Amino acid sequence: MTQTQAEAVAQPLTVLAEDEVIFRDSVRQFAEQTVRPLVREMDEHAKIPRSLVDELFALGMMGIEVPERFGGAGGRFFHAVLAVEALSAVDPSVGVIVDVQNTLVINALLRWGSDDVKARYLPRMASSTVGAYALSEAASGSDAFALASRAAETADGFVLNGRKLWITNGNEADVFIVFANLKPEAGYRGITAFLVERGFPGFSVGKKEDKLGIRASSTCELVLEDCRVPRANVLGEVGKGYKVAIETLNEGRIGIGAQMVGLAKGALDHAVAYVKERRQFGKAIAEFQGVQFQLARAATELEAARLLVYNAARLRDAGRPFLTEAAMCKLHASEAAEHVTSLAVNLFGGYGFTRDYPVEKLFRDAKIGQIYEGTSNLQMLTIAKGLLG
Ligand SMILES: Cc1cc2nc3c(=O)[nH]c(=O)nc-3n(C[C@H](O)[C@H](O)[C@H](O)COP(=O)(O)OP(=O)(O)OC[C@H]3O[C@@H](n4cnc5c(N)ncnc54)[C@H](O)[C@@H]3O)c2cc1C
Repeated sequence: MTQTQAEAVAQPLTVLAEDEVIFRDSVRQFAEQTVRPLVREMDEHAKIPRSLVDELFALGMMGIEVPERFGGAGGRFFHAVLAVEALSAVDPSVGVIVDVQNTLVINALLRWGSDDVKARYLPRMASSTVGAYALSEAASGSDAFALASRAAETADGFVLNGRKLWITNGNEADVFIVFANLKPEAGYRGITAFLVERGFPGFSVGKKEDKLGIRASSTCELVLEDCRVPRANVLGEVGKGYKVAIETLNEGRIGIGAQMVGLAKGALDHAVAYVKERRQFGKAIAEFQGVQFQLARAATELEAARLLVYNAARLRDAGRPFLTEAAMCKLHASEAAEHVTSLAVNLFGGYGFTRDYPVEKLFRDAKIGQIYEGTSNLQMLTIAKGLLG
């Protein structure tokens, strides 16, 4: 093969560029050294300490795609995927705070923000301000555009009323992308995205959910009672909020795929180490072919999930269509994560069922992958639509 022919061969998906390797390794090191010692305490107290969030900012993980002129890391979407994967291998709750900040909030600001919005918000998002993305409500989850929150125009802006539910980062965030309908008679074409700050009059954060998994990640209700939002804080155009939501979530679910790949890898690593140490019938349980086959299947499912996630992310960075691939990667990665973490609990035996070992937590954490940013059924609807037209 000539050099030109060799260059024409596409890179294998899992071969990372030099900058990607350096970035991933730095996140891995941070996850091992700084996050790992806090995992159990954060799960038990259902809280991520602000000092850890500050370290995420200091390392550039909260503004990965923010251009350098706004104080960000000037990276690509793929870097965000690598960060979410590496953090989630240690703690998927820390993975999701970084995921929402980058793949939903900053992504929406970059894509839909006016020059004024970008100049006002991006430097803050890259340096100290946590963001949240508020679409879901009590009665509108999968059918998100049936949202009941309302906006009304005033002389100097808008006033919002309604309640949002399940909002990730609700406790930590100071900026919220809130979707409300300005013209209910126009159906989803009345939905508008607003940038709401914690300190705006009429805005408050309500009840925090007590959850099965990703317990350290805050999931909160938001209350909008005549919440006043200046005109300059419309994100994108009035009536185009449905587009902001759809397009952001299409990308966001690749991040959830990365969260699931990371946590499955974390569980598999724990299981591999344990089966080599644990002895039964006079030998390490890793020597039983039954155990080897279970691990081999888990590793294969995980590799397939990673390939789907990396492919979707690389398609997105290449500016190519990725809608079906993003849905497939979340669907498969979340199922793989459930299978792999469940196997890890089984292989730890009785110890796997206790809080003294890390796999029961990852098993609990895996469940959310099939629910948020579109349930598995909704991902399958997207995939089927692509197939059937
Ligand atoms: C921990 C956590 C964090 C979250 N973070 C956020 C956030 O930051 N921002 C935000 O806006 N939302 C967030 N959500 C909300 C999340 O996106 C919704 O819970 C999710 O979209 C499902 O909506 P739902 O809970 O109302 O379930 P429903 O829509 O009521 O679904 C219930 C069941 O019905 C099935 N179903 C519904 N419609 C169909 C259909 N057409 N065909 C087949 N099956 C169907 C679903 O697959 C599911 O199994 C979060 C949720 C959780 C639990």
